[in-house]
This record gives sequence, structure tokens and C-alpha cells, in this order.
Amino acid sequence: MNTMTLTDCQALDAADPLRELRHLYDLPAGTIYLDGNSLGVMPRTAPARVAEAVTAEWGRDLIQSWNKAGWFALPQKVGDKIASLIGAAPGEVVATDSTSVNLFKVLSAALNIAALDAPGRKVVLSERSNFPTDLYIAEALCKERGYTLRLMDNDGSQPQVLAELAPDVAVLMLTHVNYRTGAMHDMAAITAAAHAAGALTVWDLAHSAGAVPVDLNGAQADFAVGCGYKYLNGGPGAPAFVWANARHVDRFWQPLSGWWGHAAPFEFTPLPATSAARNPSSA
Ligand SMILES: *Cc1c(COP(=O)(O)O)cnc(C)c1O
Repeated sequence: MNTMTLTDCQALDAADPLRELRHLYDLPAGTIYLDGNSLGVMPRTAPARVAEAVTAEWGRDLIQSWNKAGWFALPQKVGDKIASLIGAAPGEVVATDSTSVNLFKVLSAALNIAALDAPGRKVVLSERSNFPTDLYIAEALCKERGYTLRLMDNDGSQPQVLAELAPDVAVLMLTHVNYRTGAMHDMAAITAAAHAAGALTVWDLAHSAGAVPVDLNGAQADFAVGCGYKYLNGGPGAPAFVWANARHVDRFWQPLSGWWGHAAPFEFTPLPATSAARNPSSA
């Protein structure tokens, strides 16, 4: 077997089709950075934009900036930009909260829908090799709702995932690209198999959004979440994102609605008028 030399690597770099984009990012001279899985590098435009947000939008314009600077609409505006990277349509993605919190919301929503369509199914299926936060969130939710979190001790192989889609599985929750091995699931094939087996899918895109092509609508996936500060270069503290397939929107309800979930937030309604419509158990 040939051993890769420094010259070989430099030749590959020179032929890299993404080479021209290198100047868009600011890295200390001489740094080779391979940790976009933990914190994406800083875009060159970020410092000036952050300074403007702090000094002009916050410091000078104060409360006006909710509207004048478009702060109110940023979750949707940023969501639309992310949508184009993950095969989602405009209006389907919202940039908000952390990946962990978003996972709680969509897994709750998926369990709510599964409880209506297939009330006997009481299992959330995932992989033991999934990222810890995904398993902690799923375990907490399963405990609270009387579900079982079943973990596959697999190598990420597709035949095993398909074989584990038993008739008691309500939701299959997978991370698209494994954080440790880099192995990528075939989202379309697994989603189709899950649907054929009567289960819904929740996909975590933390290691795929911004790194590899993702096609949520093409795969007919049900729900997805992803990270803003890794391959999307959003910076520390950047919100994560959440997506729901449009076919579920009429039946989508989740346990963490805040005042911005109300159609008219500035009416400061003591209880959202939409809560009955959103919660089939009280309809
Ligand atoms: C990084 C990562 C998260 C991070 O969740 P936070 O809420 O941002 O801490 C979640 N899931 C996966 C698969 C990750 O790799």
C-alpha cells in the first residue's frame, strides 16, 4: 500500500474544488483545522457583523431593532438559508434553541402523532453509538411517557437497522452521520423502510448539515434537528435548527410552546387560544 506524503496532500489540496472558498474563512496562519465537527471556523465577515449587531442594533437602536433590524424574523430568515442546504422548503426550518431542546420537541411531536396513528407502539429505537445527548433526551422522554428506549448495538449497518424495525417501534431516531465513525446512514432507504414498518423517523443532522448533501423532503423524512455552530459556522452559542415535514404540520404539537407560539403574541393572552386546536387530547 502506498503511504501518503505531504506532497500528495498538497496536490490534493491544489485540486480541491472547494479551494476557492478558503478565503471566506479566517484562520490563524499555518493552522490546519479539522474540527468543524465541534466548532466551525469563523467567516471573515463575522466580526464586523457582530460588532454592528452589538453597537448599532442593540447599543444605539435599542428596542427598535426588534423590527428595524429584523430580529423578530431571524429564526425564519436563517431557517430559510439552512433549508436550502438540507433539502427543505422555505418556511419549513426554524433556527432556534439548542439541538438537545429541539430534539426533545420533535421527538415529543413524533410520539404524539404515533400515539394517534399507532397507539400500541411503545418503543423509540436508536443506536447505542448515537451522540450521548440524543440518548439522554430520548431516555428522559421515554421515562416520562412510559415508552422504552431500545438501543441497537450495531456497527451502523443498514441491514441491522431494517431488521430491528419491529411492530412495536413508534419512532426511529438516528443521527445521519455518526459523530465518532463518520458513517452515514442512507436516509431515504431507512426512512422508506421505517414508514413501511409503521414507524416515524427523527433525524439528527449535527454532522451532516453543511458537510454533505442532505435531502429531507426527497427522503420523505418526518422530523429533523441540527446544529448551528459545527459545520454551519454559526459561532459559539449559535442556535440550532428544527424541521418538520409539511405533511405533519396540522398535527404538530410539542410541549414547549412559548408566547411566540401564539398567532398574536402581543395580545398577551393568558392561555394561548390555539392550545385546544393544537392538542388533540383536549379537542
Ligand atoms: C454536537 C451534537 C449535539 C449537540 O447538542 P447541543 O444541544 O448543541 O449541546 C447533538 N447531537 C449530536 C449528534 C451532536 O453531534
